[in-house]
Amino acid sequence: MDANIPQTTFDCDVTIVGAGPAGATAAYYLAKAGHRVILLDRQTFPRDKVCGDLVGSTAIKELQALNITEQPEFKNAHVINKAAVYIDGKLAISSPMPKISGLTGVWREISRKTLDNWVLDSAKNAGATVYQNVLVTGYELDSKGVNVFASSSEGNQIFHSDLLIGADGSNSLIASKLRGSEVPCSNRITVIRGYYEGVEGACDQVDLHFANESFPGYSWLFPNSQNEADVGVGVLLEPMPQAGQLEDLLAKLMSQDEGLQSRLKNAKLKGKIEACQLNTYNSHLPIVGDRIMLIGEAAGLVNPINGEGIPYALLSGRWAAQTAMGCIGQKDFSQCALNSYAMQVENELGSGFKLSELLVQLMRNRTLNPIWLRAFEVMVDRAKKDPQYANIAGGILSGLFSSTEGLKPQFIMNTLQETTVGTGLKMVNETFGDPSNLPKNVIKITQSGVEAAANTIQNPFGIFKWGIETAEKMAEFAFIFPSSIMMLKQCPRESQASVPQITIRVVQQ
Ligand SMILES: Cc1cc2nc3c(=O)[nH]c(=O)nc-3n(C[C@H](O)[C@H](O)[C@H](O)COP(=O)(O)OP(=O)(O)OC[C@H]3O[C@@H](n4cnc5c(N)ncnc54)[C@H](O)[C@@H]3O)c2cc1C
Repeated sequence: MDANIPQTTFDCDVTIVGAGPAGATAAYYLAKAGHRVILLDRQTFPRDKVCGDLVGSTAIKELQALNITEQPEFKNAHVINKAAVYIDGKLAISSPMPKISGLTGVWREISRKTLDNWVLDSAKNAGATVYQNVLVTGYELDSKGVNVFASSSEGNQIFHSDLLIGADGSNSLIASKLRGSEVPCSNRITVIRGYYEGVEGACDQVDLHFANESFPGYSWLFPNSQNEADVGVGVLLEPMPQAGQLEDLLAKLMSQDEGLQSRLKNAKLKGKIEACQLNTYNSHLPIVGDRIMLIGEAAGLVNPINGEGIPYALLSGRWAAQTAMGCIGQKDFSQCALNSYAMQVENELGSGFKLSELLVQLMRNRTLNPIWLRAFEVMVDRAKKDPQYANIAGGILSGLFSSTEGLKPQFIMNTLQETTVGTGLKMVNETFGDPSNLPKNVIKITQSGVEAAANTIQNPFGIFKWGIETAEKMAEFAFIFPSSIMMLKQCPRESQASVPQITIRVVQQ
């Protein structure tokens, strides 16, 4: 139940800042176990949140544990059965959602106003105390615990507890204070989205559009009813594009991209386009400290390949609550005691996220856009003929491999060579490695390959920086999966551009 806030100091076991899916899930589990939890949010629920609103199968499994999926409102939520991939405006493939054992193949499109309120209601029903419209401004540790400072229309408050969980999203104050720095630009993506009505085509199909203008990144169209959809675009670039640039890009794509046109030609914007920044995972940034844990997007738990974050918010909320319960029992809230949560995140999500990070890093070099886009085409061609391959490739793109316990890293590694990255690296190799391969290579990329080589010469520093960063990610990845050396051996040859040289040197270390 919401409470009126008197101007006093509050005492509890755990203070949670941020009542989105991550914070509300942690509050649910802690309150259910009988602990005194206070959940703070600066907004008043139900509140909206800029999002693609796509709720995948891992998230649905977690919602089931919160008793949400049995509710009639959830059962009536908009159903998504299939996904289509468009490349440069042409439909490449449309197929059912990947089938992974133990997970539903039916996804949902649910506005965050609705979804987040359901999760918050679960936390309240379990006994969490929720204070809304309360802005947290800082925290301090003392010998007895942690003090969280906040302000609201009632004045200033102090919340005292043994433990603080930071679930305050992409601009997390708790994360900045814990780390002493902001999230690096390479882990930030600017994204925009708008709701459109008058949308045509299959309303149970989400569309991903890959095009040269928006790559590395993509635009999406996720239907949320018979004729309405959430439409947006995000591009992974440094420096990050401004929201206005992305609005121009979306407008351009909507008027010129045949795929988007086919569904949006008569569509009208409902409300306004909204921008937001999201954080992607960086395994080097701490997510625990003495008496502090970060969860959800505050911890950067967003898959870099597709921007999906709801499942990781729900999972990390549950894991953090479980660790917190152990710490309450032991009366030990040291960083060392809380580290088991950080290790769980790394063990369960780290390998999948590192794979995504590597894929994204490889594709970050816009010079090679045409090659990666061609690699997508090759991948899609094979997926059309081979349903098992389609499932695996779809699993990587949809992020299911980052969140599915049944899919082990070795299995992912073995199939990696057959997906975009393997195909793309082979093409890079053929295009740069041996000019005599050019005529043999796919005619469509020949011209692009020559342009790419020319750009490499014109911008050696950009390519060098990309190469160093790629090498770092490759090294991390090869450390986890020694068998990835097999894949790296397919990298471009040492005798050519600087990128391949760096990559190969790292593998040999
Ligand atoms: C454009 C876009 C599209 C996306 N599409 C998808 C998608 O389709 N599917 C998917 O799975 N994921 C998607 N994501 C990612 C997803 O939105 C996030 O990963 C998810 O919201 C993280 O949940 P959270 O609980 O960690 O944080 P949030 O949902 O952001 O909640 C954080 C809460 O903290 C509160 N807060 C912040 N600061 C303070 C403060 N100082 N004091 C008090 N309260 C505070 C905020 O009010 C907010 O309610 C998308 C993200 C973006 C930006």
